[in-house]
Amino acid sequence: MNIILIGPPGVGKGTQAKNIIKRYQVPHISTGEILRENIKKQTKLGIHAKTFMDMGKLVPDYDVLGMVSRRLADDDCFHGFVFDGFPRTIPQADGLSKLLSNTDKRLDRVIVLKASDEIIIKRLSSRRSCNNCGRIYNLLFNSPKNDNKCDVCGEELTQREDDKPETIKKRLDIYRLQTEPLVNYYEKLDLTVFINGESGINSISEEIFQILDEID
Ligand code: AMP
Repeated sequence: MNIILIGPPGVGKGTQAKNIIKRYQVPHISTGEILRENIKKQTKLGIHAKTFMDMGKLVPDYDVLGMVSRRLADDDCFHGFVFDGFPRTIPQADGLSKLLSNTDKRLDRVIVLKASDEIIIKRLSSRRSCNNCGRIYNLLFNSPKNDNKCDVCGEELTQREDDKPETIKKRLDIYRLQTEPLVNYYEKLDLTVFINGESGINSISEEIFQILDEID
């Protein structure tokens, strides 16, 4: 099962990807998460990517495609993947298509999650994460039990640098300009399905499962 999740930052791609992989046992490939791990480990890629990410800009296609190509070569991707946050530009989509054709794979579905800017801004500015174990919270609908402390490891929660209000607006503009054209790109290939990302987490997952259950 080879799936792409497309949608503005904060629409719930990560949350839905986690539910999808539990049910279908394929790896979740979040380019944002891989980049953040590289930043944490202070790799050359991480140090380079951080300058773009902190400003809410996209990391160059060349770096992202190299990273994805290495990840797709891992054994766990043999039976499929769920991409979250990739591709984000037309050159990335072209690059992915080349990578897949080299390995005789094809995309099954591109799930497009939609939500208004107002909802996105509200959700992103309420997102908090634990730098220690990676657990993600939202003060609107999934807040920690103890004030600003991780339920799992007790570490202080932080707000991602790129979830600060001035950067959110920039990320949304970039999404509309550079990533949204991918919807049309994949519509032409008859791969898109549209889901209302403003509904509840579980009802969105149910809708997605109905679509994915039909893939043979
Ligand atoms: P995300 O966790 O998907 O919201 O990504 C966080 C940040 O990582 C983005 O704002 C970009 O700076 C960078 N990033 C993640 N995925 C990509 C990608 N496919 N292309 C370029 N930059 C990316």
